[in-house]
Amino acid sequence: MIEIKKVNNRPLNLLERIYVWEIFKGFLVTARHFFVNLFCPGKIITIQYPEITRPLEHAAKRRTRHRLKMRANGTPKCVACFLCATACPAFCIHIEAGEFTSSQVEKYPAVFDVDLSRCVMCGMCVEACPEDAIAMDTEVIPGGVLKREDMYLTRNKLLQNMPGDPSIKGAANRLA
Ligand code: SF4
Ligand code: SF4
Repeated sequence: MIEIKKVNNRPLNLLERIYVWEIFKGFLVTARHFFVNLFCPGKIITIQYPEITRPLEHAAKRRTRHRLKMRANGTPKCVACFLCATACPAFCIHIEAGEFTSSQVEKYPAVFDVDLSRCVMCGMCVEACPEDAIAMDTEVIPGGVLKREDMYLTRNKLLQNMPGDPSIKGAANRLA
Protein backbone atom coordinates (compact mmCIF):
# COMPACT_ATOMS: atom_id res chain seq x y z
CA MET A 1 0.00 0.00 0.00
CA ILE A 2 1.35 3.43 -0.97
CA GLU A 3 1.84 5.79 1.92
CA ILE A 4 0.59 9.30 1.14
CA LYS A 5 2.69 12.00 2.71
CA LYS A 6 0.81 15.20 3.46
CA VAL A 7 2.82 18.36 2.80
CA ASN A 8 2.20 21.45 4.89
CA ASN A 9 1.82 24.25 2.33
CA ARG A 10 1.76 27.06 4.85
CA PRO A 11 2.38 30.61 3.60
CA LEU A 12 5.98 31.87 3.89
CA ASN A 13 6.69 34.23 6.76
CA LEU A 14 8.51 37.55 6.26
CA LEU A 15 11.98 36.12 6.96
CA GLU A 16 11.43 33.38 4.41
CA ARG A 17 9.99 35.77 1.83
CA ILE A 18 13.11 37.95 1.76
CA TYR A 19 15.25 34.79 1.38
CA VAL A 20 18.33 36.20 3.17
CA TRP A 21 18.03 33.84 6.16
CA GLU A 22 17.32 30.86 3.86
CA ILE A 23 20.43 31.64 1.77
CA PHE A 24 22.46 31.95 4.99
CA LYS A 25 21.15 28.54 6.13
CA GLY A 26 22.37 27.10 2.80
CA PHE A 27 25.81 28.59 3.40
CA LEU A 28 25.86 27.05 6.89
CA VAL A 29 25.22 23.58 5.44
CA THR A 30 27.99 24.07 2.85
CA ALA A 31 30.39 25.33 5.53
CA ARG A 32 29.56 22.38 7.82
CA HIS A 33 30.41 19.90 5.03
CA PHE A 34 33.56 21.84 4.15
CA PHE A 35 34.94 21.71 7.70
CA VAL A 36 33.88 18.11 8.28
CA ASN A 37 35.68 17.12 5.05
CA LEU A 38 38.73 19.15 6.08
CA PHE A 39 39.14 17.95 9.66
CA CYS A 40 37.31 14.58 9.80
CA PRO A 41 38.28 12.63 6.65
CA GLY A 42 36.71 9.50 8.12
CA LYS A 43 33.27 11.13 7.93
CA ILE A 44 33.45 12.11 4.25
CA ILE A 45 30.52 10.49 2.50
CA THR A 46 31.68 11.13 -1.07
CA ILE A 47 34.32 8.88 -2.64
CA GLN A 48 36.91 9.59 -5.34
CA TYR A 49 35.11 7.71 -8.13
CA PRO A 50 36.31 6.16 -10.43
CA GLU A 51 39.63 5.68 -8.62
CA ILE A 52 37.69 4.28 -5.64
CA THR A 53 34.49 2.28 -5.94
CA ARG A 54 32.13 1.03 -3.27
CA PRO A 55 31.66 -2.74 -2.90
CA LEU A 56 28.62 -3.87 -4.83
CA GLU A 57 25.66 -5.01 -2.73
CA HIS A 58 24.05 -8.32 -3.78
CA ALA A 59 26.67 -8.52 -6.54
CA ALA A 60 25.73 -12.05 -7.56
CA LYS A 61 22.20 -10.92 -8.49
CA ARG A 62 23.31 -8.02 -10.68
CA ARG A 63 24.30 -7.76 -14.31
CA THR A 64 27.88 -6.55 -14.42
CA ARG A 65 30.63 -6.35 -17.03
CA HIS A 66 30.72 -9.16 -19.58
CA ARG A 67 33.14 -12.06 -19.84
CA LEU A 68 33.51 -14.97 -22.24
CA LYS A 69 33.56 -18.43 -20.64
CA MET A 70 36.12 -21.13 -21.40
CA ARG A 71 35.96 -24.88 -21.94
CA ALA A 72 38.14 -27.17 -19.83
CA ASN A 73 40.66 -27.39 -22.71
CA GLY A 74 41.16 -23.64 -22.65
CA THR A 75 39.22 -22.70 -25.78
CA PRO A 76 36.27 -20.30 -25.61
CA LYS A 77 32.80 -21.81 -25.32
CA CYS A 78 31.66 -19.28 -27.90
CA VAL A 79 31.05 -20.83 -31.34
CA ALA A 80 30.70 -17.50 -33.14
CA CYS A 81 27.04 -18.04 -33.99
CA PHE A 82 26.27 -14.28 -33.88
CA LEU A 83 23.04 -14.77 -31.90
CA CYS A 84 24.13 -12.40 -29.14
CA ALA A 85 25.09 -9.71 -31.66
CA THR A 86 21.72 -10.16 -33.38
CA ALA A 87 19.82 -9.91 -30.10
CA CYS A 88 21.73 -6.86 -28.89
CA PRO A 89 19.44 -3.81 -29.09
CA ALA A 90 22.37 -1.40 -28.91
CA PHE A 91 24.36 -3.01 -31.75
CA CYS A 92 27.46 -2.97 -29.59
CA ILE A 93 28.75 -6.52 -30.18
CA HIS A 94 31.08 -7.08 -33.13
CA ILE A 95 32.08 -10.66 -33.98
CA GLU A 96 34.27 -12.12 -36.69
CA ALA A 97 34.34 -15.91 -36.89
CA GLY A 98 37.48 -18.00 -37.25
CA GLU A 99 37.49 -21.71 -38.18
CA PHE A 100 39.12 -24.57 -36.28
CA THR A 101 40.72 -27.04 -38.65
CA SER A 102 41.27 -29.92 -36.20
CA SER A 103 38.35 -29.78 -33.80
CA GLN A 104 34.76 -30.97 -33.54
CA VAL A 105 33.82 -27.37 -32.91
CA GLU A 106 33.71 -25.59 -36.22
CA LYS A 107 34.15 -21.94 -35.29
CA TYR A 108 35.57 -19.66 -32.65
CA PRO A 109 35.42 -15.89 -32.24
CA ALA A 110 38.52 -14.52 -33.97
CA VAL A 111 37.16 -11.09 -33.07
CA PHE A 112 34.65 -10.50 -30.29
CA ASP A 113 34.30 -6.87 -29.24
CA VAL A 114 31.79 -5.29 -26.89
CA ASP A 115 31.53 -1.50 -26.92
CA LEU A 116 30.49 -0.74 -23.36
CA SER A 117 29.94 2.93 -24.15
CA ARG A 118 26.85 1.86 -26.11
CA CYS A 119 25.82 -1.14 -23.98
CA VAL A 120 22.62 -0.69 -21.97
CA MET A 121 23.36 -3.70 -19.71
CA CYS A 122 20.10 -5.38 -20.72
CA GLY A 123 21.49 -8.94 -20.63
CA MET A 124 19.88 -9.91 -23.95
CA CYS A 125 23.22 -11.24 -25.21
CA VAL A 126 23.44 -13.62 -22.25
CA GLU A 127 19.83 -14.73 -22.74
CA ALA A 128 20.35 -15.34 -26.46
CA CYS A 129 23.51 -17.45 -26.19
CA PRO A 130 22.80 -21.16 -26.88
CA GLU A 131 26.23 -22.20 -25.55
CA ASP A 132 26.18 -20.40 -22.19
CA ALA A 133 29.37 -18.79 -23.43
CA ILE A 134 28.90 -15.21 -22.35
CA ALA A 135 28.15 -14.02 -18.83
CA MET A 136 27.65 -10.75 -17.02
CA ASP A 137 28.91 -11.78 -13.61
CA THR A 138 32.31 -10.13 -13.21
CA GLU A 139 30.92 -7.88 -10.45
CA VAL A 140 32.55 -4.92 -12.20
CA ILE A 141 30.34 -1.96 -13.05
CA PRO A 142 31.50 -0.43 -16.32
CA GLY A 143 31.85 3.32 -16.54
CA GLY A 144 33.86 6.15 -15.10
CA VAL A 145 36.86 5.57 -17.35
CA LEU A 146 39.31 8.27 -18.36
CA LYS A 147 39.89 7.06 -21.92
CA ARG A 148 37.24 6.10 -24.47
CA GLU A 149 39.14 2.95 -25.51
CA ASP A 150 38.83 1.63 -21.94
CA MET A 151 35.11 1.16 -22.66
CA TYR A 152 35.98 -1.20 -25.49
CA LEU A 153 36.20 -4.86 -24.47
CA THR A 154 38.15 -6.98 -26.94
CA ARG A 155 38.02 -10.77 -27.05
CA ASN A 156 41.20 -11.11 -25.03
CA LYS A 157 39.93 -8.76 -22.34
CA LEU A 158 36.66 -10.68 -22.24
CA LEU A 159 38.51 -13.97 -21.84
CA GLN A 160 40.66 -12.64 -19.03
CA ASN A 161 37.87 -10.84 -17.32
CA MET A 162 37.47 -12.88 -14.19
CA PRO A 163 40.21 -11.87 -11.75
CA GLY A 164 41.25 -14.73 -9.52
CA ASP A 165 39.95 -17.49 -11.78
CA PRO A 166 43.05 -19.65 -12.48
CA SER A 167 41.26 -21.73 -15.13
CA ILE A 168 41.29 -18.88 -17.61
CA LYS A 169 44.79 -17.53 -17.01
CA GLY A 170 46.41 -17.09 -20.41
CA ALA A 171 43.34 -18.47 -22.15
CA ALA A 172 43.46 -15.90 -24.93
CA ASN A 173 46.92 -17.11 -25.88
CA ARG A 174 45.63 -20.65 -26.51
CA LEU A 175 43.58 -19.48 -29.49
CA ALA A 176 44.81 -19.57 -33.05
S1 SF4 B 1 23.91 -6.26 -22.29
FE1 SF4 B 1 22.39 -5.70 -23.89
S2 SF4 B 1 23.22 -3.87 -24.83
FE2 SF4 B 1 24.91 -4.79 -23.68
S3 SF4 B 1 25.99 -6.08 -25.15
FE3 SF4 B 1 24.47 -7.38 -24.15
S4 SF4 B 1 22.65 -7.29 -25.45
FE4 SF4 B 1 23.98 -5.57 -26.04
S1 SF4 C 1 28.60 -15.63 -27.17
FE1 SF4 C 1 27.03 -17.20 -27.50
S2 SF4 C 1 25.48 -16.21 -28.78
FE2 SF4 C 1 27.34 -14.93 -28.92
S3 SF4 C 1 28.39 -15.67 -30.73
FE3 SF4 C 1 29.22 -16.80 -28.97
S4 SF4 C 1 28.02 -18.68 -28.85
FE4 SF4 C 1 26.87 -17.26 -30.17
